[in-house]
Amino acid sequence: MFRALACLAVAILLHADEFDERARRIHQSVIAADSHIDTSLRVLMDRADLSRRSTVGHVDIPRLREAGVRAPVFALWAPTFYEGSEAIRRTLQLRDAMQRVFDEHPELIELALNASDVERLAHQGKIAALLSIEGGHQIADDLAVLRMYYRMGVRSMTLTHFKNNHWADSSTDTAAHNGLTDFGKEVVREMNRLGMIVDVSHVSDKTFYDTLAVTAKPVMASHSSCRAISPVPRNMSDDMIRALARNGGLIGINFGEGFISPKDAERLRLGIRTAQMDPPRGGGKALDEYAEKTIRAMLKPDKAEATIDDVVRHIDHVVQLVGVDHAGIGSDYDGIGAPPQGLEDISKLPRLTAALLRKGYSEQDVRKILGGNFLRLLRQVTGR
Ligand SMILES: [Zn+2]
Repeated sequence: MFRALACLAVAILLHADEFDERARRIHQSVIAADSHIDTSLRVLMDRADLSRRSTVGHVDIPRLREAGVRAPVFALWAPTFYEGSEAIRRTLQLRDAMQRVFDEHPELIELALNASDVERLAHQGKIAALLSIEGGHQIADDLAVLRMYYRMGVRSMTLTHFKNNHWADSSTDTAAHNGLTDFGKEVVREMNRLGMIVDVSHVSDKTFYDTLAVTAKPVMASHSSCRAISPVPRNMSDDMIRALARNGGLIGINFGEGFISPKDAERLRLGIRTAQMDPPRGGGKALDEYAEKTIRAMLKPDKAEATIDDVVRHIDHVVQLVGVDHAGIGSDYDGIGAPPQGLEDISKLPRLTAALLRKGYSEQDVRKILGGNFLRLLRQVTGR
């Protein structure tokens, strides 16, 4: 009896190793993407050196390489208390911080403008950094500013953040425009024309459906999860996920607190409340100091209730609902304080792959979820 049990235990262990080993091999060759990370904050506020493996934060170049994440999307996020020209100034600070990374480490990381760039840079062993803007308020109601962001290499924009802007309603604010205004629709059309991914994370349900009615190209929810599992307004309902799939779009599963498990939702509510608070009057240095203080409080490291199994559940929910072609990864790393247990930073991504393989996912399916779906969308939107 003891012998039989011992044999069973060895068989289970070997089996576990087999999935980990297959995951490790996949991550050596895959071009994985992460459609939303906030690492630019650490570059700006801490002057983080991304070329070295750090013990703080969730993302740096060595950890991206370990996980085969060749196509991370670095969000340039200005909190909504940056208004008008102040939001543009903040965006330029973040864009400048990322340029410093590109200038100091051209052998490790380069700006990518389309899917062909990503493939070329990945084959050279480099990180292909994509840039996004997080919050439509950052264009200060001016399409010229949007076009200048495009010329500075930005290839995606989230239409809102935690608050409404002058042309789109947010999922975490009281509706003011009944979705997208006429100007909001113009923004979507201009993004289509330029070849920028329209990002529908953060927007209200009505804004989401209005966007789908206007857009001529697939859209992305870069960092949202499933409302059916964790019922917070930032997540997507099953009906929204089905509509997103019909559009050919993609949902990048957010690993953040509250997105994955409602047990961690208090931290998400704290972030939303912080965004609604009144900032100091004026702008410039005083506003930057206020931003630094509030962002550091929001990102204070903590332990989540959510685990890697909860993340698998969200991915599987999307796949069961609309198939494997519309699920991706949008971790929100470096923009969250408490990542799920087992996925403490981006280098742990192979564990997620092993868990999906263990669940019966094929290697081909896993490759789509890890980055294939994102690259398809990027190619469709940028044309290359
Ligand atoms: Zn966000």
